[in-house]
Amino acid sequence: MKYVIVIADGMADEPLDELNGKTPVVEANTPNMDFIAKNGYTGLAKNVPDGMTPGSDVANTSIMGFDPSMLKGRGPLEAPSVGVSLGDNDVAFRLNFINVEDGKINDFTADHISTEEAEELIKALNENFGDIGKFYPGVSYRNLFVIEDLSMEELKSTPPHDVVGQPVEDNNLKPDNEKSQLINKLMEDSVKVLENHPVNKKRVSEGKLPANMIWLWGQGAKPVIGNFPEKYGMSGATITGVDLLKGISTYINLDVIEVPGATAYFDTNYQNKVDYALESLKTHDVQFIHIEAPDEAGHEGNLPEKIRAIENIDSIILEKLLKELPNIDSEYTIAVLPDHPTPIDIKTHTMTPIPFAIYSTNIKEPDDTEFYSEDMSKGKYDTIIGHTLLSEMIKISKE
Ligand SMILES: [Zn+2]
Repeated sequence: MKYVIVIADGMADEPLDELNGKTPVVEANTPNMDFIAKNGYTGLAKNVPDGMTPGSDVANTSIMGFDPSMLKGRGPLEAPSVGVSLGDNDVAFRLNFINVEDGKINDFTADHISTEEAEELIKALNENFGDIGKFYPGVSYRNLFVIEDLSMEELKSTPPHDVVGQPVEDNNLKPDNEKSQLINKLMEDSVKVLENHPVNKKRVSEGKLPANMIWLWGQGAKPVIGNFPEKYGMSGATITGVDLLKGISTYINLDVIEVPGATAYFDTNYQNKVDYALESLKTHDVQFIHIEAPDEAGHEGNLPEKIRAIENIDSIILEKLLKELPNIDSEYTIAVLPDHPTPIDIKTHTMTPIPFAIYSTNIKEPDDTEFYSEDMSKGKYDTIIGHTLLSEMIKISKE
C-alpha cells in the first residue's frame, strides 16, 4: 500500500461575488479532485488547534500526522533547509526581506527578490551586524537569523504578511524590553545598510521594488515534534518548495526530495514534482506533495492565478498520480486537501476547518459527496482533528 497526500496550500476559500457565489476550487476545472471526492471519503479537518495561529507550519504539521502544539515558532523549522543545525541555546528567527514605503510595510516578499540577490544582502547584514547574531540565506525573501539567547523565544513577533499596508512602528516586537529593543533596532538599522546596497540600486533601476528592510518574526528554539517512521511504522518523503516544510520534514525524519524548478510560486515546475514523487514512491511508503502556489495567489488576492494553480495541481499532478500509481502498487490511498484557507478577499490564512478527500483502492462504498468543494456536509466525516487524518487514511486503506 502506498500513501500520497497532495497539499494545495491555501486552496480553500469563501464564496465570491465575482464567481456568482462559487469558490475558486468549484469554479476551477478539477476532474481529478472530483474523482477522489466522488469515489472516496470526505470531510473537514481542523488543522489549526484553537489558540494557535493558522500558519502553514501548524497546519502542515497536523497533516503530517503530529500534534502542532509541540511547535516553537517558524524560524527553527526553516533552519534545517538552510543547513543550520541549532544549538541548545539558539533561537532562530525567520527573516523576510520586505519593501517599506513611507514607514509602511508595502510588500512582504520584497517583490519576490531572487535568491542570488538575497544572498548578497545577507552577506552585507553579516558584515554589519554579525556581532549580534548570524544571518543565513534561504530561498528568495525567506531567510534566517540566529541569535544565542533563549529568552528571545518569549517575545511576541508579527508575520509581515498579516500587516501589509500598516506602519512598521505599530508592529514591532513586544513587550517593550531590552530584548525586543535589540531586535526592533536591528530591523530599523537594516534600512541604512540595505537601501543603498548595489543590489537594490540595480533593482530600482530595473523598475523593481527594493528589499529595503528586514523583518524578523516566528522565532523559536529547536523543536521536538516526533518521529514519523517510528510513529507510523512506514518510511515517508516530502516534496515542497518551501523551506518551512522541508524543516518540519527533517525534524520528524521524513526524507526531503529536492525537485528542480520547485519555486514555491506560480511558476513552480508541477511536472517535475509529480515525476519525482512517483520515483520517490518506489522506495517510500508515504509521499507528501506540497504546492504553495494557491496560497501565494490568495495572499495577493489574485483570483485568476489561484484558479490556474488549482487547475495545474489537478491536471498535471493528480492526473498523473491517478494514472501511474497503479503501476507502482496495485493498492494505494491518495488524499487531496489544503493546509488552511487563504481566501482571496481576506488575503491571509483563516482558522476555518479545511475540506479533505481521500480515495483508496480499498474503499468499497464511497460517501455521498459528488465533487470536491469546501462543502463536505454529505461526507463520511464531520470535522476531525487534523493530526488524526493520516491515521484515518491508514485505517481506510485497511478496510
Ligand atoms: Zn499554508
